[in-house]
Amino acid sequence: MSREVTSFNPYQMAVQQFELAAKRLALSEDLREILRKPKRELTVNFPVRLDDGRIKTFTGYRVQHNVNRGPAKGGIRFSEDVSLEEVKALAMWMTWKCAVVGIPYGGAKGGVICDPKRMSSAELERLTRRYTTEISIIIGPHSDIPAPDINTNSQVMAWMMDTYSMHAGYSIPAVVTGKPLSIGGSECRNEATATGVLFATRRAVQRMGTTLQGKRVSIQGFGNAGSIAARLFAADGCKIVGVSDTQGGIYSEIGLDPATVMRYKQAHGSVVGFPGAQSIGVKDILEVPCEILIPAATEGMITVENAERIQARIIAEAANGPTTPEADRILFERGCQVIPDILANAGGVTVSYFEWVQDLQSFFWGPEEILQRLEVIINRSFDAVVELAEQHHCDLRLAANMLAISRVAEATQIRGIYP
Ligand code: GLU
Repeated sequence: MSREVTSFNPYQMAVQQFELAAKRLALSEDLREILRKPKRELTVNFPVRLDDGRIKTFTGYRVQHNVNRGPAKGGIRFSEDVSLEEVKALAMWMTWKCAVVGIPYGGAKGGVICDPKRMSSAELERLTRRYTTEISIIIGPHSDIPAPDINTNSQVMAWMMDTYSMHAGYSIPAVVTGKPLSIGGSECRNEATATGVLFATRRAVQRMGTTLQGKRVSIQGFGNAGSIAARLFAADGCKIVGVSDTQGGIYSEIGLDPATVMRYKQAHGSVVGFPGAQSIGVKDILEVPCEILIPAATEGMITVENAERIQARIIAEAANGPTTPEADRILFERGCQVIPDILANAGGVTVSYFEWVQDLQSFFWGPEEILQRLEVIINRSFDAVVELAEQHHCDLRLAANMLAISRVAEATQIRGIYP
């Protein structure tokens, strides 16, 4: 999805959010200087043979923001919109995300500038294998563990795992998470991001003294997070009134059946044109009448331009970085509760952590165990963030960032500066 505001810089936005929390925590300038910048930024340019025999050179990145709490962790994104600034922001958000839910990882992110929708499966496999080889100098089961993100899935993770393992000469499943079950993937990982969004939102409505039953939900983005959230929220009694993808959105006052919309998208390539629904724009989906809004697309979607017109009372950020700091301020003043990305969508990386632990032990858990452990972590983290927000009379983003940054700062300080 190409952003309307071309000057939008996600890394600047991430730093702005960081500064707000660092100031409230009264962090020293030395610590701020360390945490503001990524530890490592790797850019790779590499050739891939296309099906027609031509050779195209692609650019990819892997950025490690911080590793003081554990190995770097974060997804790989395939998109034409990928840039170093975006990957740097996403890596920083991963550091805070892992810290806020208390899992022992630092933050990283990767991406390749490409249009996967216009590439064959064989081309994507060659691109993935070559990119993995290029970044293999910094990834590893104890140093940096990739996972799926926008336009990457369990098949891409299988190719990454296989490539890394071929170089080593033996299988190393723990080098990536989000793998297929047959090669060391985890139960519930595919649905984990959406499941975490559901658990966090359930906790939010519970604390408001109500339930999800009958609540109207609008969802921007119909990828892994958005489409599965539609299904899970509907199963929990919500009415899905709007969904969108990169092509456009659809709205229905009486509600949409997520499974039927999914079948329509699989057949037609988009949700646009779904029979019986009204066609609306990708950004209009954020402004439809509803109680719960789930941005599940990309960064910088909720801005000063549309924050006033959002009708939802709860925004659960399945996407990373969908709301700008200026929009945060407007939403807070209007009494809209934003469950910030690093908390709302942490279910994905939390079950990735479970997958990694299972791989390292070669001992696998059942779905009940995973869901129960995930719910405990999301509820505990949600409550801690809400309590801090109440103490500081601030929004949940600032509280979540304060909690996360204080944990990373503590780890940085206690480890000391080498040498
Ligand atoms: N890409 C997901 C995220 O943004 C998951 C990362 C992971 O599992 O490592 O949180």
